[in-house]
Amino acid sequence: KLYNMVQDLKGNIRVYCRIRPAFSAESKNVVDFIGEDGSLFILDPSKTSKDGRKSFQFNRIFGPTAGQDEVYRDTQPLIRSVMDGYNVCIFAYGQTGSGKTHTMSGPSGGTSKDMGINYLALNDLFHMSNEREATIKYDIYVQMVEIYNEQVRDLLAEDKTENKYPLPYTYYYSLEIRSCNDDGLSLPDARMLSVKSTTDVMTLMKFGEVNRAVSSTAINNRSSRSHSVLTVHINGKDITGNSIRSCLHLIDLAGSERVDKSEVTGDRLKEAQYINKSLSCLGDVITALAQKNSHIPYRNSKLTLLLQDSLGGHAKTLMFAHMSPETDSFGETVSTLKFAQRVS
Ligand code: ADP
Ligand code: MG
Repeated sequence: KLYNMVQDLKGNIRVYCRIRPAFSAESKNVVDFIGEDGSLFILDPSKTSKDGRKSFQFNRIFGPTAGQDEVYRDTQPLIRSVMDGYNVCIFAYGQTGSGKTHTMSGPSGGTSKDMGINYLALNDLFHMSNEREATIKYDIYVQMVEIYNEQVRDLLAEDKTENKYPLPYTYYYSLEIRSCNDDGLSLPDARMLSVKSTTDVMTLMKFGEVNRAVSSTAINNRSSRSHSVLTVHINGKDITGNSIRSCLHLIDLAGSERVDKSEVTGDRLKEAQYINKSLSCLGDVITALAQKNSHIPYRNSKLTLLLQDSLGGHAKTLMFAHMSPETDSFGETVSTLKFAQRVS
């Protein structure tokens, strides 16, 4: 246990696995064993138990009964480090239906029970900001974008024609990413809003969801095919005039499932190719960082380019590999776990 903690403090990249509950009690389960040390054993349903056993290693594993609080407890140290000036990225990876949105946002509908990391993290940031008020004044801002087919769209964009707020926005821009910007903003043109409380954040998040939904009427269920990025910017100034600037990126990735190329054509195929490419670029960047390579291929995708200043260096990264316990997801589960193993 202590060894694990020391290891966690040392590395800037950590990988957690989260297994969602099975949807049906009758369905067979591929999970064979979850070790205290972060080892996971799964069984190939098509093989006999001896040769079908595969093992993986994580910094933490959250089983089907782990609640949002438990998951947040092991995420909190990273969130707290944002207040001390570290940039942090938290990714939710996994096939569609494996629980990414549940981890980040919580159950759809947005009740305050069972809220995900986005809400709990912001709640914590406000809390800490109040605690430190006497010595440091913090300003907190958020931006919210999605990356779809390698285009960045502003989910908080204003409807310029009406010039009212809030509205169900139908306006999207294709935003340009600036790297190495003096003000530390890689998306200077995305709308940035000051937030003072979790209520403000909830309003904005709902609003971003509406914006996302409006654009997806033509293409059903687009949310699983785009990456959504909620960025929290923290600007702190202490009593001596020193400033701290950092950001927290909360990323609900597009579904990692491979689509059968023989079955899709046209737009759907293009979409799938963009997703495959950007997820493998993300894997390449994190792997290159973990191996301390001199060249980090940030420029190969919009997502990694956007997150360039928050991946590597002193920045901290947490990846949640989500898996479904059902046997019919076995193939995708193995590729998710392999992806996670590659980046850890
Ligand atoms: P994804 O975003 O990866 O497509 P979702 O987060 O939408 O997947 O999860 C799919 C379904 O499973 C949702 O109905 C969600 O509420 C449920 N679910 C996912 N993870 C959990 C969990 N840990 N506990 C309870 N329900 C979950
Ligand atoms: Mg989702």
